[in-house]
Amino acid sequence: MPNPEHFEKSSTVVLEFGATMAETDIFDRNVPQSSEAELRDLLRQRYKIDGEFQSIEAERDQLFVITPADGRKIALRVLQDRDAAEFQVRALQHLERHAPAIPVPRVILDRDGQSLNHHTSTGGGNYVVQVLSFLPGVTMSQVESRCDHRTRFKLGALVATVDTAWQGFFHPAAQQPHVWNLSECTRLTEHAQYIPDITHRKLAIDVFERMGAEVLPKVAALRHQVIHQDAHRNNVLVDPNDPQIITGLIDFGDMLFGSIAAEVAVACDGLSYGARDPLAAMCEVVAGFDSVLALTEQEIDIIFDLACARNAQVAVVVSARAALYAKERKYLDSAISHFERLGELNSLGRHAVTAALRRACRFPAWCPRSPAEALSIDEERELRDARRELLSPNTKFFYDQPQHFEASSGAFLFGTDGLRYLDCYNNVPQVGHSNPHVVKAISRQAAALNTNTRYLYSSVVEYAERLTDRLAPHLNACMFVNSGSEANDIAWQMARFATGRSGGLLMEDGYHGITEPILEFSPGHPDKILPPHLQGLLVPDPYRGPYRDGEPELAEKYAADADRAIADLNAAEHPLAAFFVDSAFCSSGVPEVPEGYLRGVEKRVKAAGGLMICDEVQSGFGRMGQWWGHEMHGVRADIVTMGKPAGNGHPLGVIVTSKELMNDFMGSVSLFSTFGGNTVACAAGNAVLDVIERESLIENGVEVGDYLRQRLRELAASQQLIGNVRGRGMLTGLEFVTDRELRTPATQETERLLEFMRRRQILVGKEGRDHNILKLRPPLVFDRTHVDLFINALDESLSELRSSL
Ligand code: PMP
Repeated sequence: MPNPEHFEKSSTVVLEFGATMAETDIFDRNVPQSSEAELRDLLRQRYKIDGEFQSIEAERDQLFVITPADGRKIALRVLQDRDAAEFQVRALQHLERHAPAIPVPRVILDRDGQSLNHHTSTGGGNYVVQVLSFLPGVTMSQVESRCDHRTRFKLGALVATVDTAWQGFFHPAAQQPHVWNLSECTRLTEHAQYIPDITHRKLAIDVFERMGAEVLPKVAALRHQVIHQDAHRNNVLVDPNDPQIITGLIDFGDMLFGSIAAEVAVACDGLSYGARDPLAAMCEVVAGFDSVLALTEQEIDIIFDLACARNAQVAVVVSARAALYAKERKYLDSAISHFERLGELNSLGRHAVTAALRRACRFPAWCPRSPAEALSIDEERELRDARRELLSPNTKFFYDQPQHFEASSGAFLFGTDGLRYLDCYNNVPQVGHSNPHVVKAISRQAAALNTNTRYLYSSVVEYAERLTDRLAPHLNACMFVNSGSEANDIAWQMARFATGRSGGLLMEDGYHGITEPILEFSPGHPDKILPPHLQGLLVPDPYRGPYRDGEPELAEKYAADADRAIADLNAAEHPLAAFFVDSAFCSSGVPEVPEGYLRGVEKRVKAAGGLMICDEVQSGFGRMGQWWGHEMHGVRADIVTMGKPAGNGHPLGVIVTSKELMNDFMGSVSLFSTFGGNTVACAAGNAVLDVIERESLIENGVEVGDYLRQRLRELAASQQLIGNVRGRGMLTGLEFVTDRELRTPATQETERLLEFMRRRQILVGKEGRDHNILKLRPPLVFDRTHVDLFINALDESLSELRSSL
């Protein structure tokens, strides 16, 4: 039952903004004036109950706890408003029917089965009487010190259970104007004059102004339903012997049709009031609620403002009552405590509270959507410092001033500076950042089952079938791992197993991953000394390599380097096991590989008894205008490896080879990857294939990629730094030179350009031995408007670069 000391937040006041009523009437509690004697008569006649009456002060109703001879207490409430009374009993009866386990009062019917009784008092008042069961327990405030995070979590869950049960319930009285309706709190602005302290008054007005200007328009678009809206520590009951046991939620006098966000805000504020660590307490209540009724991101982000509004609202109503009615003065202290609470919330800060609530529900970190909301320099520095401490100062960032992202969609990443950045760099989110189909597939599968290939399940078979269907017929068996590096590591093990040899060929600046053997296949630069069992091939780069465009037999000249390399391997007594090639030649800066080059190397590799390992980590899944890059070069792969885009960001690496090799190899080793090809990874993989096909993304990549290269070539007419534009599908190499004749690499200019582009909210990365090439690998969902954004920013950045030289 409501504690009189805290009545101000505990029950209903119905606003009546009637034209004939003074505005201040909204504060009149207008409590019915029935005598105990006449109510005792009513109870005897209508309910056949007799007992000892104890009056409890309630906000707007008369409330009695009645103890009959059998000791089974009941509560009798006298209300002014018939509609409001009916709303309450219907809501409670709905809970009884649809969620009978929830500990809320039950409506006790009279001898005729009625839930409400009219009552005309001797003073002439026309009232309504309802009788409810009385729940055991004590209010949380009575055992506050013994309530911990578990109590609050369970209480949050209880409120959510009630709201879930009310999802199919409505009553017209739920939409009556209501002094406690947070969605109407701005109407209280004019009554802030009743707050004696001028600083407090301003605080309340500021809160209402923000509510009107920014918060309420957002709230209006959120989920609404009938809500309890009054779950505070005097309206929840716990077992006095074990406050972890929740015995009830009471006082349904403030129910209304409101936002779920308001419900959570009121509960999170009211149930954390007075806690030793208020923020932790708020988090527990919200997490408890979210565990039963999942909150949305928009709802969680608005809780702080609504909690502030709730405190300002209570403070104004209490202050106004104290000013208007002498008997209300005793509650003035309560208004002050709500201002203290407001101060406490403000000193914690919107960002910190929201970030903590998000963390508690495992929402991703908050990301501002406008520069006005940007994270402060201090907040950014704090995070950077913590990362330096906890990771390594040598864990590199892309930019000197690291770019902080917390959200994404399609071709864009959203920065904590409140700006959106066009992603022209990252080839992992192949079907777009946060692709909704992939996200759903991952979360639905994670909710059902996440297990490994030691058990039988369908998705891995479906995925393997779909992948092999899209490859040449001899590539018909799969193995699943977690990354491109792991896939290449396994491929290398297979090649050595199949050939019994130890020599490897790679491009002189190739990159294939980070496991120890594969790191050796990843020199990244031609000058790097390779171990004796490896040989690097000359990069077939007709723009700046030793043999240039226009020369005859370009492909053959480059391919002939494989003769040298294979001979060197033989001389080192490491005959060739395999040639690793990234079909996109990405780390070489996406050169325009001469037609026939790779077939020329393949011929030599096969003649030497080696295998072709085609690394499709960069070029796969439609990046270059067809499913696989090696097919573009017309070679027959013995082993294909995949990674990055396979799961659109979810870890997924694949090795595909012939059944024969796979069977022999797997029969000879005891290999198992715990996460490789697990049900969730396969859900991601299957969803990626769905989107590529459903949205014709390979075709889109060709169309938009061609448009990009055409616009770049046009731009080259006015921007001299552009030396060469090449690529296929959605993979483009853009090479900068300071002298077009000499093809002098514009190394420093490219470095500066990255920063100029970043300032124009475009993300690009550099590549190549002289770091003068932009590799452009946007998601396949890129469209012409994105290209135009990129071209405009590049044009401006190049002009800025020129004028700054
Ligand atoms: N192969 C190629 C061609 C790559 O570009 C990369 C990553 N950049 C890898 C393999 C390694 O993949 P991961 O980082 O997933 O291990």
